[in-house]
Amino acid sequence: SLLAFDLKLKEKLNFMTKLTTRAEDYSKWYNELVVKADLAENSGVRGCMVIKPYGYAIWEKMRDELDRRFKETGHQNAYFPLFVPKSLFEAEEKNAEGFAKECAVVTHYRLKNDAENPGKLIVDPEARLEEELIVRPTSEAIIWNTYKNWIQSYRDLPILINQWANVVRWEMRTRLFLRTAEFLWQEGHTAHSTREEAMEETEKMLEVYADVAENVLAVPVIRGVKTPSERFAGADETYCIEAMMQDGKALQAGTSHFLGQNFAKAFDVKFTNKEGQLEYAWATSWGVSTRLMGALIMAHSDDNGLVLPPKLAPIQVVIVPIFKGEEQLNLIRKVADKIVAELKQKGISVKFDDDDQNKPGWKFAEYELKGVPVRIAMGARDLENQTVEVARRDTLTKEVKPLENIAEYISQLLDEIQDNIFRKALKFRDENITEVDTYEEFKKVLEEKGGFISAHWDGTAEEEEQIKEETKATIRCIPLDNDLEEGVSLISGKPSNQRVIFAKAY
Ligand code: AMP
Repeated sequence: SLLAFDLKLKEKLNFMTKLTTRAEDYSKWYNELVVKADLAENSGVRGCMVIKPYGYAIWEKMRDELDRRFKETGHQNAYFPLFVPKSLFEAEEKNAEGFAKECAVVTHYRLKNDAENPGKLIVDPEARLEEELIVRPTSEAIIWNTYKNWIQSYRDLPILINQWANVVRWEMRTRLFLRTAEFLWQEGHTAHSTREEAMEETEKMLEVYADVAENVLAVPVIRGVKTPSERFAGADETYCIEAMMQDGKALQAGTSHFLGQNFAKAFDVKFTNKEGQLEYAWATSWGVSTRLMGALIMAHSDDNGLVLPPKLAPIQVVIVPIFKGEEQLNLIRKVADKIVAELKQKGISVKFDDDDQNKPGWKFAEYELKGVPVRIAMGARDLENQTVEVARRDTLTKEVKPLENIAEYISQLLDEIQDNIFRKALKFRDENITEVDTYEEFKKVLEEKGGFISAHWDGTAEEEEQIKEETKATIRCIPLDNDLEEGVSLISGKPSNQRVIFAKAY
């Protein structure tokens, strides 16, 4: 039909129109890329997004990589309710206070017909809940209220549980993947018999996050500790991984919290230790969210579209035939089928795109936009010479390769691409960390170069706040691998023995 034709044409035009470049408008580039690469789109629901199949396929791969590591470190998955009764939510005061300003609250459980407006519904005032329900912004409360029943003796510990879920935080300014009102995440919640063991768990899970960020997403991260003012509400210590985006801004990519005995005290979770004495349990919680998708996109992609590390690419290799007529296509298909089989044998996901509705040039642009790491093109001349043309998405280079041992070559190439994407991001990150020693210099670097600034801080919330007020840069973290170094802080001039990382953040 004409409409179907129009839609197809519109779709094509959409692809063909170039992305806004990063240099022109980084933020616009990001939004366009997310939509055009078919990852996600805004929905009719305020602050909430629709994750489209291609975006969800990438998320599923991240999720599987994380999930495997959680299980390897002894955790099990479970599921807890979406709603938290208000009285439970209030129990841990600091946590409640921290999240109160962004809670969605269920007050009624029924609608009824509006007598004055036929066809319309109104909230039934008679169906008011006796106790309001909070849509979970995080699940410590509901989970520790449950752990109370599970923990009596040291033999019941540790409890090592993770949940894959959605949560709601009523964010005022939202951006696809980076900050949404509803987001998908995992939250680990563990209970331990000693402080040391809980601390070890907090650090272990931070390392799992760093491993996935660096070795799967190919995003280098700084492992660190948050300052008290940036700490998770209810935590004694918040560990984090911080990544740098291509515009030099920081993105908090994951957090792991040492919760001390705060939740055990709030929910009265005591256990009998080996000596027969009652003690409060020790807790951790840790989470990463669909924000990781934002990190992945912003860290690697370019003005042609998405750049995906092979480990997360739903399609790792695409084969595009260049042909005139059915006969030629059939000859190419014969060779392509063999390559497909060999690549699949090696566990590589591959697509042979023999759709004759689109020209090869259009396909090239589409797969570039979608970040497919390797493209193999094959035409009549290649058939004659027993060769293929292999193009890399990360470097945008191509070369002609013999058909012989092509699967082995592609397999190694995918590893090299994974590695190259990480090294490129690492180089960029390191080139954009600047040490400064005066506040003047700090402001100048922030203004002219951006990126991360490594500087001395006097350890007070006052100085941190003043810098934030005046420059919008926050302390991202106190790096864990810091060398001690004598210095004086930026504003107060008080002595400091280590540098911290400042940046403007998403
Ligand atoms: P938190 O529970 O606050 O420590 O957050 C856990 C993880 O979720 C962190 O990696 C955050 O960066 C991420 N996160 C927090 N708020 C949002 C949001 N509104 N949208 C997406 N991810 C978020």
